[in-house]
Amino acid sequence: MKAVVDPYRHSVRPEDLDLAASLLAASKRPAALTGAGMSAESGLATFRGTHSSLWSRWEPEELATPRAYREDKELVWGWYMWRMGAVARAQPNAGHKALAVMSRRWPYFAIVTQNVDNLHERAGSTRITHLHGGLFEHRCFACARPHPEFVVPADAADGPQLRLAPPRCLHCGGYIRPGVVWFGEQMPEEPWNQATAWLRECDLLLVIGTSAMVQPAASLVGFARQHGAKVVLVNPEDTGHSSLADVHLKAGAAEALPLLLDRLDRS
Ligand code: NAD
Ligand code: ZN
Repeated sequence: MKAVVDPYRHSVRPEDLDLAASLLAASKRPAALTGAGMSAESGLATFRGTHSSLWSRWEPEELATPRAYREDKELVWGWYMWRMGAVARAQPNAGHKALAVMSRRWPYFAIVTQNVDNLHERAGSTRITHLHGGLFEHRCFACARPHPEFVVPADAADGPQLRLAPPRCLHCGGYIRPGVVWFGEQMPEEPWNQATAWLRECDLLLVIGTSAMVQPAASLVGFARQHGAKVVLVNPEDTGHSSLADVHLKAGAAEALPLLLDRLDRS
């Protein structure tokens, strides 16, 4: 038997849940834009928004830039190996799973993510584009050839201070780097074109766990709105997107998204 979730026990306001569910019920082409908060309840730290966020412990300039990699490869590769290990051990949460249910219900359902983890894929969602690359999409720093054959060792989660020499490229002997978009780097064209194509067509955008601080990703919310989409925000905090939202579910993704589906099923 299906468990009945009582919205009054949760921090999402019932009237907000009603409105979000009615928007979703009316939607033919819903989509989601997700950020680090989507995976927070899977145990992966966000970059901003909490005292345990990654950037309050390390300066981004020290770790997530091409210059940092050139200056101290072992430090940067070790830090990414630690993050890769943490992602490999993490599990999709109830929020990722709720989006996968939406993927099955709406053939259109598309996910534009800023996340470099693979939890949407592992939850079973299919139409996904990664604006900032993927932690496991290694490539050569020198010749840019992909190196998917390189697997993260099981002991990679030893700790963030781990220093590790990056492996070498099989083609040119250069160093392997993680396939993420670093600060100061251009976002690759293909995921951006995919994102704008999907969000131009969507009629409802769920904006989940993103601080609205990273451009151009943050601008996609205004873009979808300009093209006629309703906007449902899912975030325990207010963000720069709050004024664009038709409704704001003020709770974590793993709580709010299953509640939304449950409310939809009872409408
Ligand atoms: P961010 O760290 O800047 O902001 C996180 C947002 O999530 C905040 O607004 C916070 O209030 C919200 N949040 C916290 N817990 C939440 C929860 N349980 N449910 C819903 N929302 C929650 O993240 P961002 O906007 O994605 O932007 C920064 C960059 O961070 C991106 O480029 C992304 O690549 C990178 N990043 C990715 C991961 C990952 O892949 N898991 C982790 C950390 C950072
Ligand atoms: Zn190479």
